[in-house]
Amino acid sequence: MPNLIEQALEAALVDRFYIGQILVRKTNGGGFVISHRDDQGRGDLKLFQSAEDAIDLTKFDDSGNYRPLKTAPNLQHGWRLQLAILDDLRRSLDYFYPGRLAIFVSWKSSQLQITPLRETLDRQSGMYRIAAKISDKQVNRVVGDFCRSDGGCLRTVLWKRDSRGTVASTRLPPEKFDPAFDQTLTPGSPPPATTPRLIPLLCQEPCNLLVAECRNVVKDETER
Ligand code: SF4
Repeated sequence: MPNLIEQALEAALVDRFYIGQILVRKTNGGGFVISHRDDQGRGDLKLFQSAEDAIDLTKFDDSGNYRPLKTAPNLQHGWRLQLAILDDLRRSLDYFYPGRLAIFVSWKSSQLQITPLRETLDRQSGMYRIAAKISDKQVNRVVGDFCRSDGGCLRTVLWKRDSRGTVASTRLPPEKFDPAFDQTLTPGSPPPATTPRLIPLLCQEPCNLLVAECRNVVKDETER
């Protein structure tokens, strides 16, 4: 898999590309520079030079709050990560957005397995088993709030609510389900004149945080 991922990165790296809130650029010397895409043009960025520096850069947002969800749109600003080789780039992006490159490669080769929310909820055990009792109406609201790109999560939702193919939430715009759409943009707004290539952050299965949120909704209701 690492080789396939590096091939995908090389294909995207004609010049530069976006992944989530990150801009990746190739340098003339054959290395790579990563920064927050909002920081383009800033001359006061703190320099880092190891792929492993990404581990700390992803931990907290600009206000110092812990980031439980790495694909939340709150990546901290003010840094620049300079890397020498493609393997460093692959490793660092896996720290910024764990597993997302491998999922992208699987999706590109039509091998990605996608799991509906109800299936994920039905296989929960222990304290999370109760999450499966959430109603369809509640799912619609929870997913619409929790997964939204503006303030929730920058992944493109590929999964459905159930095995019948019901949309995950009618409260999300159609762009939330479109891997070609840049989730940092506002749906319906005119696209920028020029934009780098995009590697989308794909969501192939509801995450543990969403499952926990579903459980909270059910629990709150039963305790009322
Ligand atoms: S379920 Fe997917 S899209 Fe929703 S918050 Fe979790 S990772 Fe993001």
